[in-house]
Amino acid sequence: MPQCPSQPACSLPPLGMDASSLCSDTRHYLLRTLGAEETTSSGNSVYTALAMTLRDRLVEGWKNTQKKVAAGDGKRAFYLSLEFLLGRTMGNTLLNLGLEDAAHEALIQEHRDLADILEVEPDAGLGNGGLGRLAACFLDSCASLGLPVTGYGIRYEYGMFRQEIRGGEQVEEPDHWLKNGYPWEMKRPERIRRIHFFGRSDIYTDAQGKMHCRWIDSHDVLAVPYDIPIPGHRNGVVNTLRLWRAVATDIFDLGEFNAGAYPEAVAAKNNAEHISMVLYPNDSSENGKELRLRQQYFLASASLQDVIADWVAVHGENFRDFTKRHCFQLNDTHPSCAVPELMRLLMDDHGLNWEDAWDITSRTMAYTNHTLLPEALERWPVRLFRQLLPRLLEIILEINGRFLQEVARRAPGDTALLRRLSIIEEGDEQMVRMAHLAVVGSFSVNGVAALHTELLCKELFVDFCRLYPKKFNNKTNGVTPRRWLQWANPGLRELLTEQIGPDWKHDLERLRDLAPAAEDADFRTRWSKVRRINKERLAALVHQHTGVTFIPDALVDAQVKRIHEYKRQLLNALHVIHLYDRIKRGETTEITPRNVLFAGKAAPGYFMAKRIIKFINNIANVINHDPDTEGLLRVSFLPDYRVSLMEQICAATDLSEQISTAGKEASGTGNMKFMMNGALTIGTLDGANIEIRDAVGAEHFFLFGLNAQEVGQLREHYDPHIYIQTDRDLQRVMELVQSGYFNAFEPGIFDPIVHAVTHAHDPWMVLADFTSYKLKQREVAELWHDQTEWQRLSILNTAASGRFSSDRAIAQYNAEIWHLQPLAMTP
Ligand SMILES: *Cc1c(COP(=O)(O)O)cnc(C)c1O
Repeated sequence: MPQCPSQPACSLPPLGMDASSLCSDTRHYLLRTLGAEETTSSGNSVYTALAMTLRDRLVEGWKNTQKKVAAGDGKRAFYLSLEFLLGRTMGNTLLNLGLEDAAHEALIQEHRDLADILEVEPDAGLGNGGLGRLAACFLDSCASLGLPVTGYGIRYEYGMFRQEIRGGEQVEEPDHWLKNGYPWEMKRPERIRRIHFFGRSDIYTDAQGKMHCRWIDSHDVLAVPYDIPIPGHRNGVVNTLRLWRAVATDIFDLGEFNAGAYPEAVAAKNNAEHISMVLYPNDSSENGKELRLRQQYFLASASLQDVIADWVAVHGENFRDFTKRHCFQLNDTHPSCAVPELMRLLMDDHGLNWEDAWDITSRTMAYTNHTLLPEALERWPVRLFRQLLPRLLEIILEINGRFLQEVARRAPGDTALLRRLSIIEEGDEQMVRMAHLAVVGSFSVNGVAALHTELLCKELFVDFCRLYPKKFNNKTNGVTPRRWLQWANPGLRELLTEQIGPDWKHDLERLRDLAPAAEDADFRTRWSKVRRINKERLAALVHQHTGVTFIPDALVDAQVKRIHEYKRQLLNALHVIHLYDRIKRGETTEITPRNVLFAGKAAPGYFMAKRIIKFINNIANVINHDPDTEGLLRVSFLPDYRVSLMEQICAATDLSEQISTAGKEASGTGNMKFMMNGALTIGTLDGANIEIRDAVGAEHFFLFGLNAQEVGQLREHYDPHIYIQTDRDLQRVMELVQSGYFNAFEPGIFDPIVHAVTHAHDPWMVLADFTSYKLKQREVAELWHDQTEWQRLSILNTAASGRFSSDRAIAQYNAEIWHLQPLAMTP
């Protein structure tokens, strides 16, 4: 190969950040790279070309950030999560790079509208709901605060299913979000990792006569990383989300198959590649499928190997300072195989002894708990572990043995305590309790709202809390104000900056400065104008997707979240029936006109949740077609709830429904998005609602219902019929439902719903809170008539929402768990 060392490498022109640079680069990608035709190129081609243009502009910051991280001897954190509910990326990139106006102009030169191009992008729906969205908000905050945090997840081929509504029922359609390619990712084939499954563990002696364990006869799968850039807000930092894809180990395994069965052998590749095929669509419940355990181990092993490879490249096999430089945050127990897997890698692959490996593991792992619901607590059969992950099970049993010895030393003779704390649950079938594994293996365990953490220590982890009180801490959730305020609500963004200056954009607590403006009539008018525009846009969207015409200027009352009995969409639905009943009784003058909006997906195997969707749709259908409701009440179920839909909904909602049974919603984050955008909340004393109410003031929050303690006390002698007997309105509602009024052509379909709420064992106590909810909704309706007061409270809600920024949450994770130095970067 001819070389001329004296000749410098050809130079690259710097990338312009103005409209004409964006325009010419977009044209370059469109016409030269994608080979599109000038006049007939599709929206998708233009979207891809602009995405490539923007990605180029992320790469420099990306490399600079990586250099800074590598050069510094600083500590890094790794956020391990089976879910990252990213939504769309283009808008967020424009916002964080400050390229919104330039991109808008660039596309005008191309005779395109940026808004249309943004709509082309499919949501990256790699999560179910709150837990996955939290991971995405956290990555945005880490980058915006300049913290060296890498996200690790799975690159599911199919994300959260697309929801269609047919005949009022949910129909799931596969979400092939990658079908047009995903321009934001970069494949990193040089960082492929090998993951073991099955086989057995084997003891051998090395050349020095030392005994070791190894995992042999395994069936291996390759983990191929794809990196997505995570830019900070206007600070030059670009962190990484690394998603793993499962790929078969290629032709090597062919020998295992019958030599004559070549096509069958190639087809068997599929088996390995199934691991990253699809996201499990269960929110707050586990289904215990083997493939899910494979996904969990796949993520944990690939990510830890990746981190260790970087360490070894610099420090060799010396792990002395590893703890000082690493922290792994486990998003729920889903990635908690990381505890035994780090032990395995350190001992079997890098020669550490148990004590040193345990010291490192138990001082680098931190676990976030997301739920108290027993059906969501992960337990895996020991039998399954033994078969699928034999070496891991050995390590788990050793961790447990040593842990129980320590407990026995501290509480001699208390065998009941040992049984309660054990990582292994005894019974007909022995099970591995993943939450216990995560608690034992971590130096920090946190809940996600004050009440949730308190209940964790009083109930689920009461024994652990007594044993290790210092391990437990609270980190109330937050949401990123970039996506959920600045991007979702540009009208409000401009108005806020006009009124209080731009400082709130990097310190959301500065929204406090808005409070005095709540008393200013002129400002209130401007405030409600912005909100009205947002509401008109939402009404158009609802009309387009459901055919329902919202009542102009009426109260927009929204409950959008996963469909689950504990979230009590049923309570809302029964109240809607009550409003309808009042209209039918002729109380039309007292009724405040309302548009009631529902949206949310049900887990495909969750019968009751799917029936609730049908119930809401049937109610909507009857009400919307009854001429008596004209101008008074509209009900709609907007299909396919997802991040990009919530961006429009939260900016246009007047009343945020946060009505879960007290003690059941760990935190909620939808509640925070609504509050930031000026919605008032009707809610129970549950999750972060409590902190929202404290922040805005009790007089500016519509509180109703039993508190968590009262729910607990009522449980034993709960009798739903008492509430029907004592509230004539509720009685009429129940009679309407039971008469088949909403299912004239589908007899009996709502019997399960009637049964669920009238049953003495209704765990969600829907009817117990009906009267209190109904009365509070009357206060809401009355306040709506006083628009001055309503807009005043709306402004005060936004003004008090600063602490629900995920920047505050991440600053606390960092100050109390991670202890990372922010990167010094220039924007
Ligand atoms: C914020 C968000 C959630 C969480 O909502 P909750 O009301 O807290 O359950 C779920 N899904 C999407 C798409 C979201 O944006």
